[in-house]
Amino acid sequence: MSFSSDSVRCKERPLLGGIEAGGTKFVCAVGSAPDDIRETQTFPTTEPEKTLPQVIDFFQSCVRTHGAIKGLGLGCFGPVDIDQTSTSWGQITTTPKPNWSGVNIVKVLSEALGVAIEFDTDVNAALLAEATLGAGRNVADLVYVTIGTGIGGALMSGGRAINGSMHPEIGHMQIAREEGDTEFEGSCLFHGAACLEGLASGPAITVRWKTPAHELGMDHSGWELQSKYLATMCANLALILSPRRIILGGGVMQQPHLFPMIRSNLQQKLAYYLPQLNTAADFEQFVVPAELGQKAGIFGAILMAQRLTLNHSRQDGFAPETYERQ
Ligand code: ADP
Ligand code: ZN
Repeated sequence: MSFSSDSVRCKERPLLGGIEAGGTKFVCAVGSAPDDIRETQTFPTTEPEKTLPQVIDFFQSCVRTHGAIKGLGLGCFGPVDIDQTSTSWGQITTTPKPNWSGVNIVKVLSEALGVAIEFDTDVNAALLAEATLGAGRNVADLVYVTIGTGIGGALMSGGRAINGSMHPEIGHMQIAREEGDTEFEGSCLFHGAACLEGLASGPAITVRWKTPAHELGMDHSGWELQSKYLATMCANLALILSPRRIILGGGVMQQPHLFPMIRSNLQQKLAYYLPQLNTAADFEQFVVPAELGQKAGIFGAILMAQRLTLNHSRQDGFAPETYERQ
């Protein structure tokens, strides 16, 4: 499919719902495609008993206005159970977010709305959108990582999302503290300063420098350190998955000067070991900014609903219609 401003609205396409369920807000939308969103609304993520009825009301009201919704895509903050053979498929699992642990969000929404739901992580949804419409177009082997309040990532190989017994947890990869880093406690609730998120998320930057990440000046030494941690992450991902591109998004990546620093640290760390990553131009193609920004999650959710109505089994991976192999 293509996505352009001049693409024609197609009223015959089935009406779909999308939800980006985030730790701070739920973005809900109804439309037939990312370029045909007819109604959208955002609700703060408070407790499930309050937020979920608001979401349900929104879709019920949309059905009254626009007609029946044929499928719903739900990209959710995690960790979540996305294993369809599991009895707790659809459940939010060990989230530190108060009141949400143990909530089966798919069950609640599908019972209330009577609609089939395609369920995945928020980052798998965002990756689907970036792969289809954004920085990963025409690339089948991709990694997407968002560096914000937490660090979350998703993997795609041969056009298919890679999930195993659960989904990947890239943010908690175990990495060593860089030489010269301060002795701070780290920000990960589970691993302190012993994982990537504990060392390089927005809150980690704030704790380490006692200044919010967006207030650190461009020439602050914290950015060189930050780029080294993200370069280590990219090196590990490059060596394990062999992706053709790594897409970086999220609040912290709103600092464009980080990209050249990450690329040059990555080049140094890989030490010309990987033949496909040799020149500065190779690295420029390899580590790139996300293109869809805040819209990636909700566009991905709508694309998930589209895939559901196209009758692809959820275990089939991404629909070939939405991907072109490189
Ligand atoms: P979330 O992860 O909660 O969905 P974001 O991706 O916006 O939201 O991430 C928020 C984090 O990103 C905060 O820790 C904030 O300090 C950091 N952040 C937001 N904007 C910027 C910016 N322009 N530069 C650096 N860090 C930023
Ligand atoms: Zn951790």
